[in-house]
Amino acid sequence: MVAVVAHPDDAELLCYGTLRKYRKAGAVVTVVVVTHGANGVSVTDAGTGRQLAEDEREKEVTAAWQDTGIDVVFLHLTDGALTADLHLISRVEGELNRLGCTLLITHSPRAANDHQDHLAVAAASANAATRVTTCHTVLHGEPHAPRSGFHPTVLVDITDVLDDKVAALAAHHSQSGRWYLTEEFTRHRAAQAGWSLHPAAAAAGRAFEAFETSLLTLTAFASREDTRP
Ligand SMILES: [Zn+2]
Repeated sequence: MVAVVAHPDDAELLCYGTLRKYRKAGAVVTVVVVTHGANGVSVTDAGTGRQLAEDEREKEVTAAWQDTGIDVVFLHLTDGALTADLHLISRVEGELNRLGCTLLITHSPRAANDHQDHLAVAAASANAATRVTTCHTVLHGEPHAPRSGFHPTVLVDITDVLDDKVAALAAHHSQSGRWYLTEEFTRHRAAQAGWSLHPAAAAAGRAFEAFETSLLTLTAFASREDTRP
């Protein structure tokens, strides 16, 4: 299972709980962070204009996933101007093949007005996944802010790891002050995610992460895995 995301806090926002649950169930899980994120102006440091070091946000990612058993890979590209071109698609495809990706999680390619880097990584990853023979499922995580065009079809119950998700987002010190990283928003978002598909569970207080699906071929994959003579 591989999550391919644009920026150093995106995997925690999109799918932290889902990755933790799969890892606890025994899956090999890797987060691939495409850019170093140093071009994003920090709220904390906006007044001083301090330029973030290229490894500053990557250290925060490492701290966020520490002791989870989940690996993190950094591609160190420059954020802000990603395009789903040959270079990006090739880098992502190379990682998916190297990691033997079976289930891919990335951004949504259809979320209107989402960050240009998110859209580029979504398009590049979904494209690359079509040529990765081990990959049978692609899930597109819910954008940080509500966007038209995102219509979830899959929910993962993350109630038992929601506290850990809050703690992981708090590890992004350089981004402190961003509203979408706050505990209040994280809990609200997880609580409201269930209403679209599992209203009874949402009403009972369960927390979820929401995904769209662009590729779901579990049956075909199962038959390919059958190696009996
Ligand atoms: Zn992002």
